[in-house]
Amino acid sequence: MENSADQMVRVRFAPSPTGGLHLGGVRTVLFNYLFAKKYKGQFILRIEDTDQSRFVPGAEQYILDTLAWCGLTPDESPVHGGAYGPYRQSERKPMYKQYASQLIEQGNAYYAFDTAEELDAKRKEIPNFQYNRATRMGMKNSLSLPAEEVTRLLNESTPYVVRINMPDSEELVFEDLIRGEVKFDTSMVDDKVLLKADEMPTYHLAVVVDDYLMKITHAFRGEEWLPSAPVHILVWKNLFGLDQMPQWAHLPLILKPDGNGKLSKRDGDRLGFPVFAMDWTDPNTKEPTIGFKERGFLPAAFVNLLAMLGWNDGTDQELFSLDSLIEKFSLDRVHKGGAKFDYEKAKWFNQEWIKQSDNAYLANLVTPSFEAAKIEIHEPSYLVKVIGLVKERCQLLPDFIPQSSFFFTAATEIDTASILPKWDPAKAAFFTSVMDAYKHQTVPNDATLLEAHFKSLATEQGLKPGDLMLPFRIMLVGDKFGPGVFDIVANIETQDAAKRIQYCLDLLSKN
Ligand code: GLU
Repeated sequence: MENSADQMVRVRFAPSPTGGLHLGGVRTVLFNYLFAKKYKGQFILRIEDTDQSRFVPGAEQYILDTLAWCGLTPDESPVHGGAYGPYRQSERKPMYKQYASQLIEQGNAYYAFDTAEELDAKRKEIPNFQYNRATRMGMKNSLSLPAEEVTRLLNESTPYVVRINMPDSEELVFEDLIRGEVKFDTSMVDDKVLLKADEMPTYHLAVVVDDYLMKITHAFRGEEWLPSAPVHILVWKNLFGLDQMPQWAHLPLILKPDGNGKLSKRDGDRLGFPVFAMDWTDPNTKEPTIGFKERGFLPAAFVNLLAMLGWNDGTDQELFSLDSLIEKFSLDRVHKGGAKFDYEKAKWFNQEWIKQSDNAYLANLVTPSFEAAKIEIHEPSYLVKVIGLVKERCQLLPDFIPQSSFFFTAATEIDTASILPKWDPAKAAFFTSVMDAYKHQTVPNDATLLEAHFKSLATEQGLKPGDLMLPFRIMLVGDKFGPGVFDIVANIETQDAAKRIQYCLDLLSKN
């Protein structure tokens, strides 16, 4: 990375608090974070809330909660503080006007007095109207009006916005950290508003001023911001000089599973998977959207799968902890093309992380779901033990309920239909003797000893143990899944197992 030795790396994530965080947004946070930590720099969260009309209550807290869940803690933010605050643009309002004035004085921006009605009329008159070099002289602004008229309008406190004066035809070039050289022709860009009538800056002015004042050195953002780059480059050039501009990395899109276009919340609704990091309910429409967290993803898995959407370390390795991502992250391995989102693969990551996670940690996470399912956990250490036995089989946290409920309460629905085709009196007699032994606790609650006992009893009675495993499993679990049958008996204990055998034998005898 080209950085002078004395320049501290400072990156920022600068979301607008307009709703829930799409996984693409969290990936942007992650890449900013990884880069900052890799280079022992700082990661800053700045809330870009200058567009009050798009402000959504609760969205900022949601962003903070998401970052906390993912373990991507900002070094500076509206709540963590820092030397470059405030970190909400709405609280920085007085800082921006002087820069807009400087641009006007230099001829790089101008006052535009057009009213909303006048602009509407123009839009009706000219299809696809753009306020730009072709149309600006026909509008009401400080470039088209005589100087005295402009002074009069300003003296009369006529409302105005400040617009950038896009040069007619200038080539603007910058070196993107992912895409390499990117060029723009200013003739293709309109005269964007920089300062609004209420003296609030637009994103285009605020992003430049704040990146400058906050000494931002690098910024990862989604590629949807690339078309805005020429505006930002010009503002940088005219206010602070291009050598001060942060190095940008425009991240490729996260695509729909079929690769056709950007993954949207609607794709998730349609295909039944989350697209937001956490549950989000739109405060206006009350429309709920499910999140990865509530669907039962572990934060480590979520972070891991996001990192792999557009990056790899050059080997086949796919499982990375946050620390190993920081160590391995390199810009030259970030892909230029979009990354397809694959929900099955996402679940695979989660399963791998469940397998690797500490049982007590998982027990803590799943306890509320057990409570919600009204499964009583008398002994927390018992849940921890059960988690260890079933976790290989769980892709999502809620899977722990069906995968382990029979450790806590006996199933009432028993799949006897799967036992009956091969059921006979010899088997019934065998299980009756197992039941008797368990009832009288003649075998200790130890998986190895239980297995030895079960097998020798089978052999004594001239039966093959292999033929007895499926019925035994169904008697204990109610169904054809679960960990080793003797592990189940050892944990529920022989007296409880005896009751389950009895219950099933009764059912079978009725057929
Ligand atoms: N406020 C912009 C957003 O919502 C920030 C874009 C940028 O990072 O420059 O994503």
